[in-house]
Amino acid sequence: MFIDYDKLAQSALDGQEIDREVALAILEDPDVDLLHLAAAAGKVRMTYFGKKVMIHQINNIQNGLCPEDCGYCGQSKVTDAKINKYPMKSEEDILKEAYEAKARGAYRYCMVASGRGPSERATEKLAHVIRRINDEVGIKTCLSAGIVNEEQIKELKEAGLNRLNHNLNTSERHTPSIVSTHTYEDRKNTIMAASKAGLDTCSGIIVGMGETNDDIVDVAYALKEMKVPSIPVNFLIPIKGNPLYDFNQLTPERCLRILCAFRFINPKAELRMGGGREGHLRGLQSLALYPANSLFVEGYLVTRGDKVDKVYQMIHDAGFETDNEGEFDHDLSSADKFAIDDDPNIMNPKTAPSGQ
Ligand code: SF4
Repeated sequence: MFIDYDKLAQSALDGQEIDREVALAILEDPDVDLLHLAAAAGKVRMTYFGKKVMIHQINNIQNGLCPEDCGYCGQSKVTDAKINKYPMKSEEDILKEAYEAKARGAYRYCMVASGRGPSERATEKLAHVIRRINDEVGIKTCLSAGIVNEEQIKELKEAGLNRLNHNLNTSERHTPSIVSTHTYEDRKNTIMAASKAGLDTCSGIIVGMGETNDDIVDVAYALKEMKVPSIPVNFLIPIKGNPLYDFNQLTPERCLRILCAFRFINPKAELRMGGGREGHLRGLQSLALYPANSLFVEGYLVTRGDKVDKVYQMIHDAGFETDNEGEFDHDLSSADKFAIDDDPNIMNPKTAPSGQ
């Protein structure tokens, strides 16, 4: 299919929805020129975000012990992954890690708790710690705590929570292939409830789980329809012991195409290179900053990621800037430039760590 890249960028900037046929071609047409595609996505990204890159840091505040059976997750009840399981961290520990994230230059501190959803007691605790992070640390917050109802959302919002994350993860059609203990509808309802309460929402996808291109495009359009302003695109990190364990579904080129499709379908969204970017995008991470304007640093839920120095260096080398340049006193000369091959923080699809 012939794609007019300038026209594609202009349509996105004019607020016109791109045709499904074009979105699918971006993902699968062998004649797509990747550099032109990334440049066109970059034009859209530059218009809304300039050269800024928003850095997010995840803190896993509760790990494992989950009654759900998500096939991609090292914390589920069906995984054999060897992970360090713990109940919700103490308030002081969460607060300390919020300070550390801010000191590393993170724009947002994302707290992730395993489980189907928080109890009333856990919600109270979360609300209390969010209030303290706002008052004492002064960093934007995001919470990912599973399925949350309207009452809980209200309580968290009143405490000062900025954003609630709950990923769609995959299309409605593909969801039963990856989880049986909750539905696509359950996930969608949580996002809609947060949105209805006036809370900023974050929801995205995990690719590399056996989905088709139609599934990917479905998720991109569903997030557009729900007006989700923040979209993480995660690339499956296969973890030994998980039901979903496949290294062969993604290539750097495919990951870049997916990010570009998301940018054109959701032109104004904060689009994040999520978990697994290091191992799956590899050398194309710099180019991925054209469609994406945000990324995570220092690891994901149960796997490690690139250290902050390396990420800052990659951003600067590619000609971009972090969102908080003014606040962060970062000396790039201290970055360990030559430790790439042996760096255990880089996920190699062939030797990915077992256990997140
Ligand atoms: S993704 Fe969340 S709900 Fe699913 S198994 Fe993992 S911790 Fe539980």
